[in-house]
Amino acid sequence: MHEQTLAIHAGYEKDAQGTMAVPIYMSTAYEFRDTEHAANLFALKELGNIYTRLMNPTTDVFEKRFAALEGGVAAVGTASGMAAIFYAIANVAEAGDNIIVAKQVYGGTTTLTGHTIKRFGIETRYFDVGNPSEIEALVDDKTKIILFESITNPSVDVADFDAIVAIANKHNILTCVDNTVGTPILCKPFEHGVDLSVHSASKYTTGQGLAIGGVIVERHNLVEKIKGNARYAHFNEPDASYHGLVYSDVPLPLFTLRVRLALLRDLGAAPSPFNSWLYIQGLETLPLRMKQHSSSALAIAEFLEAHPKVKKVNYPGLKSDSNHALAQKYFKNGYSGLLSFEVEDTETAQKIADSTEIFSLVVNIGDSKSIITHPASTTHQQLSAQELIEAGVPGGLVRLSVGIEDTQDLINDLARALG
Ligand SMILES: *Cc1c(COP(=O)(O)O)cnc(C)c1O
Repeated sequence: MHEQTLAIHAGYEKDAQGTMAVPIYMSTAYEFRDTEHAANLFALKELGNIYTRLMNPTTDVFEKRFAALEGGVAAVGTASGMAAIFYAIANVAEAGDNIIVAKQVYGGTTTLTGHTIKRFGIETRYFDVGNPSEIEALVDDKTKIILFESITNPSVDVADFDAIVAIANKHNILTCVDNTVGTPILCKPFEHGVDLSVHSASKYTTGQGLAIGGVIVERHNLVEKIKGNARYAHFNEPDASYHGLVYSDVPLPLFTLRVRLALLRDLGAAPSPFNSWLYIQGLETLPLRMKQHSSSALAIAEFLEAHPKVKKVNYPGLKSDSNHALAQKYFKNGYSGLLSFEVEDTETAQKIADSTEIFSLVVNIGDSKSIITHPASTTHQQLSAQELIEAGVPGGLVRLSVGIEDTQDLINDLARALG
């Protein structure tokens, strides 16, 4: 089936009422037929609902639909994008291990990997996404995962999937892409050999800035890479916390299964069924919205590129952009709605961000409403001067998340603000 059909139907079988819209199952727990049924569910001999911290019928439709759209085998929803990223790391790494992360990542990912997980004894080694060959020297036998973004936020670089995956596969290390900006519509990471993706569902998925959520998606046949792999001993040895379950022996997608059975069980950042329902509504129109976000962003990038006050525009859809060739290779049907541009200095950038009328001054992306941000004074304020340079965030940088309003109205708004 094609994407637009999957976006509307995947993962949902109508219930006895013939309910056209996916119902919101607001329920904490589920009745077992008898004690044997309950025991079978806990033992994974039979699959079914136990408790909403682990699974929920509304969330299940969201997870199946999201996985279908991205071409993955299974997904697990989380309470936020940050929870999804943390669980993807915590599912493989423990004290004494290290992970390899692109320098150019979302601000929350920088603080999570550089500070918070350090206190758990997990070391992060960084590479420049523009120079993936740096990864090779960072790898050792304690390296558990390589994490990068398909389109970086806010420097708007495109990752070279093939180059990253080649090094990872040589060493049998899992790769995980944060495809929040790429979306499952424009970028299909599993077609390029990536093992896992994470997303903030708070962005393009809900599409209207309605709720915080996240999702982890697993590719088909991931067990082949994990089974017998000494790096992932805890997937190959009995799990004492789950009566000796060996994840690589279970005939189910093992990575997302472990996130559910171990991490959602013990750490608990599960999505609300109501929020899952909002993400389902969002997914229905995601293919349509991404076309509009992408075409407007390209028109705006071209307008800015021709403007005398603009020093540089970062948008992979521009022919002049250094990422254009990579973007053409890894993206289809558009390059998403995120772009950034550089003006003379911090003061000029702040003046522009303070003068737009349609673009709202907000720290978010992926909303149907257009957003303008000054990263150096907001999202990236906690970063040191050195970290700012490494994240590609000079003071004169302005970030736009182009919404789905009329394209010409948006251009006129920016023209006015630029003066
Ligand atoms: C917003 C965002 C996140 C964090 O997601 P939340 O849902 O806000 O927790 C992670 N990665 C990227 C690329 C983001 O834009």
